[in-house]
Amino acid sequence: MKDTSPQTIYLSDYTAFGWTIAEMHLTFRLSPSATRVLSRIRFEPNPDAPQQPFFLHGEELKPIRAAIDGTEITPEYSAQGLTCAVPDGAFTWEAEVEIAPAENTALEGLYMSNGMYCTQCEAEGFRKITFYPDRPDVMATFTVRIEGNEPVKLSNGNPTASGDGFAEWHDPWPKPAYLFALVAGDLVNYPGSFTTMSGKEVELNIWVRPGDEGKCAWGMESLIASMAWDEKVYGREYDLDIFNIVAVDDFNMGAMENKGLNVFNSSAVLASPETSTDANFERIEAIIAHEYFHNWTGNRITCRDWFQLCLKEGLTVFRDSQFTSDMRSPEVKRIGDVIDLRARQFPEDQGPLSHPVRPESFQEINNFYTATVYEKGAEVIGMLKRLVGDDAYAKALDLYFERHDGQACTIEDWLAVFQDTTGRDLTQFKRWYAQSGTPHLSVSESFENGTYTLDFTQSTPPTPGQPDKLPQVLPIAVGLLNPNGDEIVPTTVLEMTEATQSFRFEGLSARPVPSILRGFSAPVVLDRDTPPEEKRFLLAHDTDAFNRWEASRDLGRACLSAMVTQGSAPDTAWLDALERVIRDEALDPAFRAQMLALPTQAEMAQQLHAQGITPDPDALYAASEALREAMAQRWSGWLADLRATCAVDAPYDPGAAQSGKRALGGALLSLLTRLDGGAAAQAQYDAADNMTLQLGALGCLVQAGADTAALASFAKQWQGDRLVMDKWFALQVAAIAPDSAVARAEALTSHPDFDWKNPNRFRAVFGALAMNHAGFHTKDGSGYGLLADWLIKLDEKNPQTTARMCSVFQTWKRYDAGRRAQMQTQLERIAARPGLSRDVTEMVTRLLS
Ligand SMILES: [Zn+2]
Repeated sequence: MKDTSPQTIYLSDYTAFGWTIAEMHLTFRLSPSATRVLSRIRFEPNPDAPQQPFFLHGEELKPIRAAIDGTEITPEYSAQGLTCAVPDGAFTWEAEVEIAPAENTALEGLYMSNGMYCTQCEAEGFRKITFYPDRPDVMATFTVRIEGNEPVKLSNGNPTASGDGFAEWHDPWPKPAYLFALVAGDLVNYPGSFTTMSGKEVELNIWVRPGDEGKCAWGMESLIASMAWDEKVYGREYDLDIFNIVAVDDFNMGAMENKGLNVFNSSAVLASPETSTDANFERIEAIIAHEYFHNWTGNRITCRDWFQLCLKEGLTVFRDSQFTSDMRSPEVKRIGDVIDLRARQFPEDQGPLSHPVRPESFQEINNFYTATVYEKGAEVIGMLKRLVGDDAYAKALDLYFERHDGQACTIEDWLAVFQDTTGRDLTQFKRWYAQSGTPHLSVSESFENGTYTLDFTQSTPPTPGQPDKLPQVLPIAVGLLNPNGDEIVPTTVLEMTEATQSFRFEGLSARPVPSILRGFSAPVVLDRDTPPEEKRFLLAHDTDAFNRWEASRDLGRACLSAMVTQGSAPDTAWLDALERVIRDEALDPAFRAQMLALPTQAEMAQQLHAQGITPDPDALYAASEALREAMAQRWSGWLADLRATCAVDAPYDPGAAQSGKRALGGALLSLLTRLDGGAAAQAQYDAADNMTLQLGALGCLVQAGADTAALASFAKQWQGDRLVMDKWFALQVAAIAPDSAVARAEALTSHPDFDWKNPNRFRAVFGALAMNHAGFHTKDGSGYGLLADWLIKLDEKNPQTTARMCSVFQTWKRYDAGRRAQMQTQLERIAARPGLSRDVTEMVTRLLS
């Protein structure tokens, strides 16, 4: 039976499960259409839980047999699970069920990908494997036996026995069912090893399909670096004899931190210089780290219930961004994180899908794996660390691991370790977990008798279900510069707790220039009417790299806004100030590449909307093109020479030094292409010996409209490589002129390699269409219609990926009446599909509300 009935679950309804489990025994007899799953579980009454009927989750299972203490019973089955009478004391439960992995296209539970068995159990996939209390607060040790002819059979923990047609695994660490994993298939391993801080040798493997062994070295290097970093920075040691990673082609998400057996979307682990870009390498390094760090923040200490998802995700995203900062450049990483936060989390927080970092209710938990839970959740941890300081943060984390190891915890537990370590009352800070929406921070200033005063006001606009907001605790990092550009007050964290609050700096000889919200010290919208000359001053002189970038980004947004709303010419004073930074060879090339990137059209739409102006996607595209053209013309004298300094004369290395140069070179090539019609891009394409240069050049050629031959040759060269072909699909839809984007996306859906059931391929085309802002928002509504057609089709096979893709409509209310009506029509059309999944029902209902 399939459960599609929407039912709202509330945090306030939490009750502990009535039993505890000492050990879970599982046997799998693998078969694509009829896998048998046998379970044996010892249940003991939970003295801390209220009386309740015995209920086990189970969905889409074919029951074969059930027994209690060896006696066969007939439970009462429903679409959600089973109930039955049980003895008062401890008892042994046994069940046998049948499932069909080959027919599982939702990619939750046990499914097949290219002939390989694999699992995805977070959040609620285990109930599609067998009957079980599938909730994170029920933790048990697992012993697993896998029977089948597949040469490789893996599960969590350590291997205990294997032989002809079977393998057995035991995981000594109690875990919730969402961390269970099983993989079986014809796989080969790329081996490695790591000696932990206490001298224990750990066997490492990356398991891939035969032929992919050559793409594992970077993943292994990243894993070893992550293990060493977590020991050094957090004192966390790995706790099993073996750590396995498996690459899977069909996967809804990036990767999954199952205990000792991480399962990865192949795009998040496989890399080689020829087939992967620098950005791919950096992403893989970060995701491997993220999943590995979960071993402590998520696995050893897990979540009590799914409302606490940010407990593991916010913290682990924060940890992986610390790791990337240490491996690469902290400034460049911070700017990238803020770009991402504003592009994904701010629209969520400002639209119909807005929800607190810790939501209070949901229908389908899969819909809450959001930028708010992950990225805003990480920002909240960053603020906490800023407020208490690095030493107190380290002490609090030590206490967290010591106090809660082996437990399923809440945000209250998390905050308590900070309160207990620092003596600080975090009652008000906790609002960050409960209050949705992006706070706005406005500031005015005065200078009198050597005293400089900053007056701040904070307010958060209403969000769904939360009309009124209370003031939040905001750490506002401020530095002051004197008129010569020297720093006179270094970065100071002001702690704002009131709706309005003033801060004074005394004993100054002249009116200073403030640098406010350095490092983006709180996830807010800063409303400050700063004169452009002051922004250019900060762009030139600020010692805080983030605020240097921010000053330029502000000027860029103002420039585009004036071009769109007043028909102004590009701001040449800004361009000249920017030129000095771009050409300053003492600065990190990666930073300079970030400075060269213009605000995106989606970001501009958000900005205009915030100013009360209805964004016109066509006008935004035209302004953006005109500005790029003006940059290319104005800088035509030196673009080629500066690009020449970005050449790398050494074997390919994905590290920060080389990738920064390639990023700057790529940004310059894009401008040069406007001057030479694509000659330099074609030359780079022809000579490229790595994917970063090849794909960068191809993108320029597509933008220049000179792409047909290059796209064909690229497809011919890479037609056997799924991950590279994903790039081919995505690039042409994202980079093409908007008036051709819908037609191109539609044409690609007829391509023989458009395997729409594969989430990576589906996202390659439709994620790229959504990124082509003016193309997706084509006035005739054809972009919305095409996407809706495919979402309706995909929902029958894969509700989770469909629901996530629905979020591209989250800004629909921002646009003009015509576009709004068309998007509403498409959302209503999706909502009306008979048999619509629970995932998508919840998403479209919220979007339309
Ligand atoms: Zn995670």
